[in-house]
Amino acid sequence: MSINEEMNKRRTFAIISHPDAGKTTLTEKLLVFGNLIRSAGTVKGKKSGKFATSDWMEIEKQRGISVTSSVMNFPYRDYQVNILDTPGHEDFSEDTYRTLTAVDSVVMIIDATKGIEAQTLKLFKVCKMRGIPIFTFINKLDREGREPFELMEEIEEVLDIETYPMTWPAGMGKRFLGVFDRHHEQFISYSGNEEETYIPYSDLEKPEHQELVEHPTYQETLEELMLLDEAGDEFSMEKVMRGDQTPVFFGSALAPFGVEGFFDTFIDMAPAPAPRRSTEGIVSPDDPEFSGFIFKIQANMNPQHRDRVAFVRICSGKFERGMNVTLGRTGKTFKLAQSQQFVASSRGTIEEAYAGDIIGIYDPNVYRIGDTILTGKTNFEYDELPQFPPEEFKKVTAKNVMKSKQFKKGIEQLVQEGAIQLFKRYRFEDYILGAVGQLQYDVFEYRMKNEYNVEVELQPLGERIPRWLKEGQVDESLFDERNMLVQDREGNPLVLFKNDFSLRWFQDKNPDVDLIDLFEVN
Ligand code: GDP
Repeated sequence: MSINEEMNKRRTFAIISHPDAGKTTLTEKLLVFGNLIRSAGTVKGKKSGKFATSDWMEIEKQRGISVTSSVMNFPYRDYQVNILDTPGHEDFSEDTYRTLTAVDSVVMIIDATKGIEAQTLKLFKVCKMRGIPIFTFINKLDREGREPFELMEEIEEVLDIETYPMTWPAGMGKRFLGVFDRHHEQFISYSGNEEETYIPYSDLEKPEHQELVEHPTYQETLEELMLLDEAGDEFSMEKVMRGDQTPVFFGSALAPFGVEGFFDTFIDMAPAPAPRRSTEGIVSPDDPEFSGFIFKIQANMNPQHRDRVAFVRICSGKFERGMNVTLGRTGKTFKLAQSQQFVASSRGTIEEAYAGDIIGIYDPNVYRIGDTILTGKTNFEYDELPQFPPEEFKKVTAKNVMKSKQFKKGIEQLVQEGAIQLFKRYRFEDYILGAVGQLQYDVFEYRMKNEYNVEVELQPLGERIPRWLKEGQVDESLFDERNMLVQDREGNPLVLFKNDFSLRWFQDKNPDVDLIDLFEVN
């Protein structure tokens, strides 16, 4: 098969949601379709130690979680599916965000009983900023949830994206009859178990469906459908591909109901790997030369060997085991002797891979997050990965002042690797760390101790709101402990506001100072 055919089969996506919306349950169902697991319930097993491999870093074992996102891949119909996990909850970190730079589309799960929740919103914003196509699965229809129209309105208003319901539910909870599949013009009926009956619209008039058609819930839904057809947005594939419209599906990951139909439609519509921007212009995924970028580095999977694994998203060409590649940043060439492709958390060696695939390569401590590796005569680098505004800040010091040299070295390396962000306070020597979740601090503390032999003291500064200042607008007298003036890695000035109130108070008093939110979606 040609490089072009191979890459066109790839569907690389992430599932984003708030904890408990049903991501694990849905993922399990997809893995069953892919024959990766025989029955649902296996993925949860990671908590009971089923997947806990002995060489995971200690902290991972203690918490029973996977610190960094893993990759699941399997063939499905004519496709090659790559699902990238986006850890949430306690394990939410910058890696969760960075995963979104390595996918071509996203599935957003919303709990019908709750609507849009905080973590969904955060991850959605990143997708929107990057123009990633987003497909929505509204889950838990087997329960009494919010009205579908209300949910559509909430998505449109809160997320600022058009919705196009691909399916539409007839009732929910105890009254749930099934969904109208607007795309395939059929009714999919729900029987309370795994069985789904597909009834083409043209067959609904047959006597055997009379009971269904005369059901008051069904009749009500017909009216809603007419309203949708008249007043709803038109389906537009171009808008979907730009991330301006989201196709919406209703179902239940647990039942399961509507999952297979959703997945089949999604996988047909979802984009194959797209061309990417680089310092040498646009690189096409079917370019015969291999290229890819590193979006995650997992350290110390085996403390004895101090090995690290760099996760590479392939962007073009064909990867072959043992091939020679060049590191874009330095121009140095070396051999990729070991490669590991991740399937859940079990590792197996792969021989070849194409654009869209994710490979794990052994890192002899030379890679950085965002690095490009490639073959070919022209050296280039892919666009830098964005930094994600941290939310939790802590002041860090070494417990033992005699160790300040290792302390500085450790911080420098961990920051460079993208494990945590570093800020320096104006006029003070204070080191202030920023992260999007507590997990990053746990990992930081652990690695400082284990890799640099330095015990650190972390003093919480709370959940601050970072706002960048324009050069020339920095008036040190305006800031204090509450609203702290710091510099980021590049020396850009920013303020860590104590809270929303402080931020507004400051803005009222100083209307001329521009406060820049680097995370604002335009
Ligand atoms: P995650 O945190 O997003 O991975 O959510 P899980 O998949 O672990 O699901 C959280 C809880 O919701 C579990 O108790 C699931 O059994 C339940 N759940 C998931 N999907 C459904 C659904 O479609 N209907 C109902 N009633 N419960 C569900």
